[in-house]
Amino acid sequence: MTQQVQQVVGFLGRGVIGPDALVVGADDLGLTRGDGVFDATRVVIDGSGHRVEHLEAHLARFARSIGLLEGPAPDLDVWRHLIGEAVAACPFTGEATLKIIWTRGRESVHTDPVGLLTITPMTAPAIAQRAGVRVTALTRGVASDAYADAPWLLGGAKTLSYAVNVAVKREAARRGVDDVLFVSTDGYCLEGPTSALVVAFGDRLITTPRGATGILASITQEVIFHAATVAGWRTASELLRPEQLAEADGSWLVSSVRGAAPILELDGRPLPQNAELTARVVAWSGF
Ligand code: PLP
Repeated sequence: MTQQVQQVVGFLGRGVIGPDALVVGADDLGLTRGDGVFDATRVVIDGSGHRVEHLEAHLARFARSIGLLEGPAPDLDVWRHLIGEAVAACPFTGEATLKIIWTRGRESVHTDPVGLLTITPMTAPAIAQRAGVRVTALTRGVASDAYADAPWLLGGAKTLSYAVNVAVKREAARRGVDDVLFVSTDGYCLEGPTSALVVAFGDRLITTPRGATGILASITQEVIFHAATVAGWRTASELLRPEQLAEADGSWLVSSVRGAAPILELDGRPLPQNAELTARVVAWSGF
Protein backbone atom coordinates (compact mmCIF):
# COMPACT_ATOMS: atom_id res chain seq x y z
CA MET A 1 0.00 0.00 0.00
CA THR A 2 1.41 3.39 -0.90
CA GLN A 3 1.30 6.11 1.66
CA GLN A 4 -0.31 9.33 0.50
CA VAL A 5 2.35 11.99 0.00
CA GLN A 6 1.67 15.63 -0.43
CA GLN A 7 3.48 16.10 -3.68
CA VAL A 8 2.89 18.12 -6.82
CA VAL A 9 3.98 16.48 -10.08
CA GLY A 10 4.36 18.25 -13.39
CA PHE A 11 5.05 16.73 -16.79
CA LEU A 12 6.39 18.67 -19.76
CA GLY A 13 3.65 18.81 -22.37
CA ARG A 14 0.90 17.76 -19.93
CA GLY A 15 1.10 20.30 -17.12
CA VAL A 16 0.37 19.43 -13.49
CA ILE A 17 -0.78 15.83 -13.12
CA GLY A 18 -1.84 13.63 -10.21
CA PRO A 19 0.99 12.55 -7.90
CA ASP A 20 0.34 8.88 -8.68
CA ALA A 21 -0.01 9.22 -12.46
CA LEU A 22 2.30 6.99 -14.50
CA VAL A 23 4.75 9.32 -16.17
CA VAL A 24 7.46 7.29 -17.92
CA GLY A 25 7.59 4.12 -19.98
CA ALA A 26 8.99 0.96 -18.39
CA ASP A 27 11.99 1.19 -20.75
CA ASP A 28 12.69 4.85 -20.06
CA LEU A 29 16.45 5.30 -20.28
CA GLY A 30 16.51 7.51 -17.22
CA LEU A 31 14.93 4.67 -15.27
CA THR A 32 16.87 1.76 -16.76
CA ARG A 33 20.28 3.38 -17.33
CA GLY A 34 20.33 6.53 -15.23
CA ASP A 35 20.65 8.30 -18.58
CA GLY A 36 19.26 11.66 -17.59
CA VAL A 37 19.85 14.64 -15.35
CA PHE A 38 18.10 16.55 -12.63
CA ASP A 39 18.40 19.69 -10.59
CA ALA A 40 16.92 20.70 -7.24
CA THR A 41 16.23 23.83 -5.30
CA ARG A 42 14.22 25.16 -2.39
CA VAL A 43 10.76 26.61 -2.75
CA VAL A 44 9.35 28.78 0.01
CA ILE A 45 5.57 29.07 0.05
CA ASP A 46 3.94 31.38 2.57
CA GLY A 47 0.99 33.74 2.95
CA SER A 48 2.61 36.34 0.70
CA GLY A 49 3.25 33.97 -2.21
CA HIS A 50 6.11 31.72 -3.24
CA ARG A 51 9.79 31.94 -4.04
CA VAL A 52 11.77 29.48 -6.13
CA GLU A 53 15.31 30.11 -4.95
CA HIS A 54 17.87 30.91 -7.64
CA LEU A 55 15.65 29.44 -10.34
CA GLU A 56 17.63 30.90 -13.24
CA ALA A 57 20.94 29.51 -11.95
CA HIS A 58 19.35 26.07 -11.51
CA LEU A 59 17.80 26.16 -14.99
CA ALA A 60 21.18 27.15 -16.45
CA ARG A 61 22.92 24.26 -14.66
CA PHE A 62 20.12 21.89 -15.75
CA ALA A 63 20.67 22.94 -19.38
CA ARG A 64 24.44 22.49 -18.94
CA SER A 65 23.93 18.99 -17.52
CA ILE A 66 21.71 18.05 -20.48
CA GLY A 67 24.35 19.47 -22.83
CA LEU A 68 27.05 17.34 -21.19
CA LEU A 69 24.87 14.28 -21.97
CA GLU A 70 24.61 15.59 -25.56
CA GLY A 71 20.86 16.08 -25.27
CA PRO A 72 19.00 18.81 -27.16
CA ALA A 73 18.97 22.26 -25.52
CA PRO A 74 15.82 22.46 -23.36
CA ASP A 75 13.28 25.22 -23.97
CA LEU A 76 13.68 26.97 -20.61
CA ASP A 77 10.55 29.10 -21.13
CA VAL A 78 8.49 25.92 -21.23
CA TRP A 79 10.18 24.81 -18.00
CA ARG A 80 9.58 28.20 -16.35
CA HIS A 81 5.92 27.94 -17.26
CA LEU A 82 5.56 24.39 -15.88
CA ILE A 83 7.38 25.33 -12.67
CA GLY A 84 5.12 28.38 -12.21
CA GLU A 85 2.03 26.24 -12.74
CA ALA A 86 3.25 23.56 -10.31
CA VAL A 87 4.22 25.99 -7.57
CA ALA A 88 0.83 27.71 -7.87
CA ALA A 89 -0.83 24.29 -7.45
CA CYS A 90 0.96 23.50 -4.16
CA PRO A 91 -1.63 22.66 -1.51
CA PHE A 92 0.89 23.18 1.31
CA THR A 93 2.90 26.04 2.75
CA GLY A 94 6.38 26.16 4.18
CA GLU A 95 9.57 24.92 2.61
CA ALA A 96 9.60 22.40 -0.20
CA THR A 97 12.06 20.88 -2.66
CA LEU A 98 11.57 21.39 -6.37
CA LYS A 99 13.20 18.70 -8.52
CA ILE A 100 13.34 19.06 -12.28
CA ILE A 101 14.17 15.89 -14.17
CA TRP A 102 15.14 15.16 -17.77
CA THR A 103 15.55 11.70 -19.28
CA ARG A 104 16.54 10.70 -22.79
CA GLY A 105 13.19 8.97 -23.27
CA ARG A 106 12.32 5.39 -24.15
CA GLU A 107 14.76 2.81 -25.47
CA SER A 108 12.59 0.66 -27.75
CA VAL A 109 10.55 3.36 -29.47
CA HIS A 110 11.63 6.78 -30.55
CA THR A 111 10.27 9.42 -28.20
CA ASP A 112 11.19 12.95 -27.30
CA PRO A 113 13.16 13.32 -24.10
CA VAL A 114 11.01 13.28 -20.98
CA GLY A 115 10.75 16.27 -18.65
CA LEU A 116 9.05 16.14 -15.31
CA LEU A 117 9.14 17.81 -11.93
CA THR A 118 8.15 17.19 -8.36
CA ILE A 119 7.58 19.59 -5.49
CA THR A 120 7.74 17.85 -2.13
CA PRO A 121 7.49 19.37 1.37
CA MET A 122 10.82 19.40 3.13
CA THR A 123 11.17 16.83 5.88
CA ALA A 124 11.81 17.76 9.52
CA PRO A 125 15.07 15.72 9.70
CA ALA A 126 16.48 17.60 6.69
CA ILE A 127 15.62 20.93 8.31
CA ALA A 128 17.05 19.77 11.67
CA GLN A 129 20.44 19.07 10.01
CA ARG A 130 20.87 22.79 9.37
CA ALA A 131 22.00 23.01 13.00
CA GLY A 132 25.05 20.92 12.16
CA VAL A 133 26.14 17.56 10.81
CA ARG A 134 28.47 14.84 12.01
CA VAL A 135 30.38 13.65 9.00
CA THR A 136 32.51 10.70 7.92
CA ALA A 137 35.11 10.95 5.17
CA LEU A 138 34.67 8.22 2.53
CA THR A 139 36.70 7.56 -0.58
CA ARG A 140 35.19 8.53 -3.92
CA GLY A 141 37.52 5.95 -5.45
CA VAL A 142 39.10 8.37 -7.92
CA ALA A 143 42.08 10.76 -7.88
CA SER A 144 41.51 14.51 -7.58
CA ASP A 145 42.38 14.93 -11.30
CA ALA A 146 40.43 11.89 -12.56
CA TYR A 147 38.06 13.98 -14.67
CA ALA A 148 40.73 16.02 -16.50
CA ASP A 149 40.31 15.61 -20.28
CA ALA A 150 37.69 12.86 -19.78
CA PRO A 151 34.31 14.44 -20.69
CA TRP A 152 32.71 10.99 -20.93
CA LEU A 153 32.96 10.74 -17.14
CA LEU A 154 30.40 13.58 -17.07
CA GLY A 155 32.14 15.52 -14.33
CA GLY A 156 30.04 18.49 -13.25
CA ALA A 157 26.81 17.01 -14.67
CA LYS A 158 24.01 16.37 -12.18
CA THR A 159 23.05 13.01 -13.64
CA LEU A 160 20.38 10.61 -12.46
CA SER A 161 23.16 8.08 -11.66
CA TYR A 162 23.06 8.86 -7.94
CA ALA A 163 23.04 5.34 -6.51
CA VAL A 164 26.56 5.83 -5.10
CA ASN A 165 25.56 9.17 -3.55
CA VAL A 166 22.65 7.43 -1.87
CA ALA A 167 24.75 4.40 -0.83
CA VAL A 168 27.22 6.57 1.05
CA LYS A 169 24.36 8.09 3.02
CA ARG A 170 23.42 4.57 4.12
CA GLU A 171 27.05 3.98 5.07
CA ALA A 172 26.99 7.22 7.09
CA ALA A 173 23.88 6.01 8.92
CA ARG A 174 25.59 2.67 9.61
CA ARG A 175 28.47 4.60 11.16
CA GLY A 176 26.03 6.64 13.27
CA VAL A 177 26.68 9.99 11.56
CA ASP A 178 24.64 12.34 9.41
CA ASP A 179 26.57 12.90 6.23
CA VAL A 180 29.65 12.16 4.13
CA LEU A 181 32.61 14.07 2.79
CA PHE A 182 33.97 12.39 -0.34
CA VAL A 183 37.76 12.17 -0.41
CA SER A 184 39.92 11.47 -3.47
CA THR A 185 42.36 8.55 -3.59
CA ASP A 186 45.22 11.06 -3.33
CA GLY A 187 43.76 12.33 -0.07
CA TYR A 188 41.87 15.54 -0.87
CA CYS A 189 38.40 16.71 0.17
CA LEU A 190 35.96 16.74 -2.75
CA GLU A 191 32.27 17.34 -1.90
CA GLY A 192 29.39 15.75 -0.05
CA PRO A 193 27.01 13.37 -1.84
CA THR A 194 24.45 16.18 -2.03
CA SER A 195 26.48 19.21 -0.97
CA ALA A 196 29.62 21.25 -1.56
CA LEU A 197 32.37 21.98 0.95
CA VAL A 198 33.10 25.52 2.16
CA VAL A 199 35.90 26.17 4.66
CA ALA A 200 36.91 29.41 6.42
CA PHE A 201 40.44 30.38 7.36
CA GLY A 202 40.34 33.88 8.86
CA ASP A 203 38.53 36.10 6.36
CA ARG A 204 39.13 33.68 3.51
CA LEU A 205 36.65 31.12 2.21
CA ILE A 206 37.90 28.05 0.35
CA THR A 207 36.05 25.49 -1.72
CA THR A 208 37.10 22.49 -3.83
CA PRO A 209 38.28 23.33 -7.38
CA ARG A 210 35.94 22.23 -10.17
CA GLY A 211 36.94 20.69 -13.48
CA ALA A 212 39.47 17.90 -12.97
CA THR A 213 37.89 16.90 -9.62
CA GLY A 214 34.54 16.22 -11.33
CA ILE A 215 32.57 17.90 -8.51
CA LEU A 216 29.25 19.60 -9.15
CA ALA A 217 29.27 23.39 -9.49
CA SER A 218 27.29 24.27 -6.35
CA ILE A 219 24.96 27.22 -6.67
CA THR A 220 24.86 27.69 -2.89
CA GLN A 221 28.66 27.90 -2.77
CA GLU A 222 28.57 30.49 -5.56
CA VAL A 223 25.92 32.51 -3.71
CA ILE A 224 27.96 32.38 -0.48
CA PHE A 225 31.18 33.37 -2.24
CA HIS A 226 29.48 36.26 -4.02
CA ALA A 227 28.05 37.64 -0.75
CA ALA A 228 31.36 37.10 1.05
CA THR A 229 33.23 38.99 -1.67
CA VAL A 230 30.79 41.89 -1.38
CA ALA A 231 31.47 41.85 2.40
CA GLY A 232 35.21 42.20 1.71
CA TRP A 233 36.22 38.56 2.23
CA ARG A 234 38.59 36.71 -0.07
CA THR A 235 37.57 33.48 -1.75
CA ALA A 236 39.51 30.75 -3.54
CA SER A 237 39.28 27.21 -4.90
CA GLU A 238 41.97 25.00 -3.41
CA LEU A 239 42.43 21.33 -2.65
CA LEU A 240 42.38 20.69 1.09
CA ARG A 241 43.22 17.57 3.06
CA PRO A 242 40.65 16.44 5.66
CA GLU A 243 43.21 17.10 8.43
CA GLN A 244 43.23 20.78 7.46
CA LEU A 245 39.59 21.18 8.49
CA ALA A 246 40.72 20.83 12.11
CA GLU A 247 42.87 23.96 11.65
CA ALA A 248 40.11 26.00 9.96
CA ASP A 249 37.78 28.48 11.67
CA GLY A 250 34.75 26.65 10.33
CA SER A 251 33.66 24.10 7.72
CA TRP A 252 30.22 23.72 6.15
CA LEU A 253 28.45 21.37 3.79
CA VAL A 254 26.29 23.62 1.64
CA SER A 255 23.37 22.89 -0.65
CA SER A 256 20.30 24.54 -2.08
CA VAL A 257 17.93 22.47 0.02
CA ARG A 258 19.70 22.40 3.41
CA GLY A 259 21.63 25.67 3.23
CA ALA A 260 24.96 25.83 5.08
CA ALA A 261 25.25 23.11 7.73
CA PRO A 262 28.32 23.40 9.95
CA ILE A 263 30.42 20.22 10.11
CA LEU A 264 30.41 19.49 13.83
CA GLU A 265 32.79 16.55 13.67
CA LEU A 266 34.73 14.63 11.07
CA ASP A 267 35.27 10.93 11.78
CA GLY A 268 34.60 11.47 15.47
CA ARG A 269 36.97 14.43 15.80
CA PRO A 270 35.23 17.70 16.75
CA LEU A 271 35.90 20.53 14.31
CA PRO A 272 36.22 24.20 15.36
CA GLN A 273 32.84 25.90 15.77
CA ASN A 274 32.03 29.60 15.71
CA ALA A 275 28.33 30.41 15.99
CA GLU A 276 28.80 33.98 14.77
CA LEU A 277 30.73 32.82 11.71
CA THR A 278 28.14 30.15 10.94
CA ALA A 279 25.34 32.74 11.24
CA ARG A 280 27.23 34.87 8.75
CA VAL A 281 27.74 32.02 6.26
CA VAL A 282 24.09 30.96 6.63
CA ALA A 283 22.97 34.55 5.99
CA TRP A 284 25.25 34.72 2.94
CA SER A 285 23.63 31.52 1.67
CA GLY A 286 20.22 33.25 1.79
CA PHE A 287 18.74 30.99 4.47
N1 PLP B 1 27.45 18.38 -4.92
C1 PLP B 1 26.55 17.41 -5.20
C2 PLP B 1 27.06 16.06 -5.60
C3 PLP B 1 25.17 17.65 -5.09
O1 PLP B 1 24.29 16.68 -5.36
C4 PLP B 1 24.73 18.92 -4.67
C5 PLP B 1 23.30 19.23 -4.52
O2 PLP B 1 22.47 18.36 -4.52
C6 PLP B 1 25.68 19.90 -4.37
C7 PLP B 1 27.03 19.61 -4.53
C8 PLP B 1 25.25 21.27 -3.93
O3 PLP B 1 24.79 22.00 -5.02
P1 PLP B 1 23.76 23.19 -4.83
O4 PLP B 1 24.39 24.16 -3.89
O5 PLP B 1 23.61 23.78 -6.20
O6 PLP B 1 22.51 22.61 -4.29
